Amino acid sequence: MKVLKFGGTSVANASRIKEVYSIVSKQHKADKKLVVVCSALGGVTDELIKMSKLASLRDDQYKKVLQQIRQRHLTCILDLGLNKDKELLRFMDQTVESFSDLLHGISLVKELSLRTLDFISGQGEVMSSRIVASYFNHQKLKSDFIDARKLVITDENFGSGKVDFKITNNNIRKHIDQKGRVSVVTGFIGATNDGEMTTLGRGGSDYSAAIFGAALDADEIQIWTDVDGVLTADPRKVKKAIPVGSMTYTEAMEMSHFGAKVIHPPTIQPA
Ligand code: ASP
Ligand code: MG
Repeated sequence: MKVLKFGGTSVANASRIKEVYSIVSKQHKADKKLVVVCSALGGVTDELIKMSKLASLRDDQYKKVLQQIRQRHLTCILDLGLNKDKELLRFMDQTVESFSDLLHGISLVKELSLRTLDFISGQGEVMSSRIVASYFNHQKLKSDFIDARKLVITDENFGSGKVDFKITNNNIRKHIDQKGRVSVVTGFIGATNDGEMTTLGRGGSDYSAAIFGAALDADEIQIWTDVDGVLTADPRKVKKAIPVGSMTYTEAMEMSHFGAKVIHPPTIQPA
C-alpha cells in the first residue's frame, strides 16, 4: 500500500495531470494498492478565498473571479478529453451554481464566517480530485473519487480542524478499497461530526496524505511536488541548494515547524 500526494503545481493543468497519471499508472503495475491524494489546481484555493472576501465586501468583482475559476476547470476538463463525462460536467455546473448562490448571500449580509470560508475554500480539492479520478478512468485505470468529508472527522475549529483519529482511522480502513482500484482522495478537507465541511489548515493536503497513510499502515507516503526532494534551502532563494539524501522523522518535523515550506508541519506525526 502506497499513498501518493500531488500538490497544486502537480495538478495545475491538463498536461500536469497527464504526468500524474503516468506516475500513478507506473506505480500501479508494481503495487495495486494505491491512494492518490490531490490538492486543488495550483492557485485555486487562493482564488476561492479571494472571491469569498470580495463578496463579503460587496465587490462585484467576485463574479469575475468565479468565472475565471469555472473556466480554468472547464479548460482542464476539455484538454483532458473528458468532455463526454456528463456527470463531471454536471458536477461542475452545480458547484458553480452553489458558489453563485452562496456568494450572493455573503454579499447581501456582508459577512463571511470561518465556517462558510471553509465550505468554499475546500471545494478546490473536490473539483481537482473529481477531474483526476475521471481522467484515470478515462485512461482505463480503474479509480474511485473519495470525498474526505465522509472519512476525515474533525472538531469545529474551522480553518484548522483538529482530527479525531479514532473515528477517522476507522472510517478510512472501512472505506478504502485495497483490492486494486485507485482511491483518488480530496486533500485538505474533512467534516465535523454533523457533516459540516472543515479544512485542515493551508497546505493541509500533505497532512491528509499522512492521515491516510497511517490509517492504512502504508509502506510509503510520497509527497510529489515541483522540487526534487527536500533541499538544503529554498531553491527559489538559494541557487546552490542541493537535495538532502535522507532525514529522520524528527529532523523533518523540526524543519517544517521552523518554516520550510516543503512540508506542512503536522504531517510527520501520523507518518
Ligand atoms: N489547496 C490547499 C492550499 O492551498 C491545500 C494544499 O494545497 O495542501 O492550502
Ligand atoms: Mg504544499
